[in-house]
Amino acid sequence: MADAGRASRGPRGITVLGATGSIGVSTLDVVARHPDRYRVRALTAHRDVEGLLAQCRRFRPELAVMADAGQAATLADALAGEGIDTRVAGGPEGLLEAAALPDAELVMAAIVGAAGLAPTLAAVRAGKRVLLANKEALVMSGALFMDEVRRHDAVLLPIDSEHNAVFQAMPAGFRPGRTPEGVRRVLLTASGGPFRDTPVEALARVTPDEACAHPNWDMGRKISVDSATMMNKGLEVIEACWLFGLPAEQVQVVLHPQSVIHSMVDYVDGSVVAQLGNPDMRTPIAHALAWPERIDSGVQPLDLVTVGRLDFEAPDPVRFPCLRLAYEAWAAGGTAPALLNAANEVAVAAFLDGMLDFPGIPGVIEDTLAALPPVTADSLDTVLAADREARERARDLVVARQRRSAS
Ligand code: NAD
Ligand code: MG
Repeated sequence: MADAGRASRGPRGITVLGATGSIGVSTLDVVARHPDRYRVRALTAHRDVEGLLAQCRRFRPELAVMADAGQAATLADALAGEGIDTRVAGGPEGLLEAAALPDAELVMAAIVGAAGLAPTLAAVRAGKRVLLANKEALVMSGALFMDEVRRHDAVLLPIDSEHNAVFQAMPAGFRPGRTPEGVRRVLLTASGGPFRDTPVEALARVTPDEACAHPNWDMGRKISVDSATMMNKGLEVIEACWLFGLPAEQVQVVLHPQSVIHSMVDYVDGSVVAQLGNPDMRTPIAHALAWPERIDSGVQPLDLVTVGRLDFEAPDPVRFPCLRLAYEAWAAGGTAPALLNAANEVAVAAFLDGMLDFPGIPGVIEDTLAALPPVTADSLDTVLAADREARERARDLVVARQRRSAS
C-alpha cells in the first residue's frame, strides 16, 4: 500500500505534474509550508522555462521535465549555468518518467486537459497516491481509469474542490471508486461563473478576458472558460459519477453564487453534510496531501458573518446548454464523454483565440456529438482515437462557423 507507515519515515516525495499552472503553484505553496513532511522530487511544465527554472531553484527536484521537448535543452543549460544538479527530460516520455518516479510516493496530477491522461495513468499504474486535479483524464477514460486504480492499489484523492468536499462528507472509510452506503444524492455546487446574470442575448459579445474573470476563483484560462459555460460543472458531474460510484441521476447541480459550500452529500435519513471554506484551492490540496491527517494550508479562516448569506438556485438550462450536453454524454456512455471533452477543448481554445464566439462553444460541441456516434470505450486506444476524431471534427466546425459569420 502506498500509504502505509507514514509516521515512521522522513519527508514523503512528491511529483507535481503541471507545476507552473494555477494548481501546481498552489500545491508548491502548501508543500513549502511543510518541509518536514514533503520533499519535491519532480516538476513538469509545458513551455514555461522561466517558471520551471524558478521552481527548480527553490525546490531542487531530482528531475524537471519540459513537455515541449524543444525547450528541454534551454532549461538544462540554465540549470547547469547556475550549478543546480536537477536532471532534465523532455516530451511525453519525460512526463511518464516523472509520474512514475520511484522516490515520489505522491503525484499531483495538475496538467490541464487530455494531455494529462497518459502521465496521470502512469502515476496510477505505479501505485502512487494520486492527487487528481486533471478531471479531463477521468472524464475521457473513467471506466479504464478506475479499473487501473483498483488493479494497482493506487490511492486516488480528489483535488477538484467539489469532489474533495464530497469526499470529506462521505461516510467514514469511504474510498473513491467504491459506492457509498446510505447516500441519496451528491449535490455539486456551482458559482454560475461570470455570466450568471448576463442577458443571454449579450453572451455572443463577451470576450475571453471577461470569461476568464471568475468572480470567486483564480484559475487557469481553460477551466475559467469552462466555468463560464458551466461545462466545468458538466465535466464534474461525470467525474463525480466515477469517483463516487453513482449514476448521474444521483448527482445534482445547485447554483450557489458565494462558493462557500463546496458541495454536499444528501443521506437517506435526511442529513445533508456539507464542506465549507474560503474559495482557495490550497484547502483541498492540503487535505489530499495530508489525508487522513490535517495540515495548515495558508488559507484564511472562514468568516461566516462577513459572508453573511448563502444563496441557492437551479441552473438555467437555456443559459448553460453545456450542462445538458454533459449529462447526455454520460447517458450515451462509451466514448461519448471523451468526444465531449475533446470537442470542448477545441471549442474553448478557439474562443480564447478569438475564432469562435461564446455561444459557439456549446454549438460546436453539440454538432460534434451529433456527428460522431460513441463506441464502447474498451481500450485506451479507442478512447484516444475518439479524442482525435472529435478534435478534427470540432476544428472543421469552428472553421465552418467562421466562414458563415464572415459571409
Ligand atoms: P493551468 O493552465 O493554470 O496550468 C496547466 C499546467 O499544465 C501548466 O503547468 C502547464 O505548463 C501544463 N500543461 C499545459 N498543457 C500541457 C501539455 N500539452 N503537456 C504537458 N503539460 C501541459 O491550469 P490549472 O487551472 O492549474 O488546471 C489544471 C487542472 O486542474 C485542470 O484539469 C483543471 O480542470 C483542474 N482544476 C483546476 C482548478 C483551479 O482552481 N485552477 C480547480 C479544479 C480543478
Ligand atoms: Mg471544481
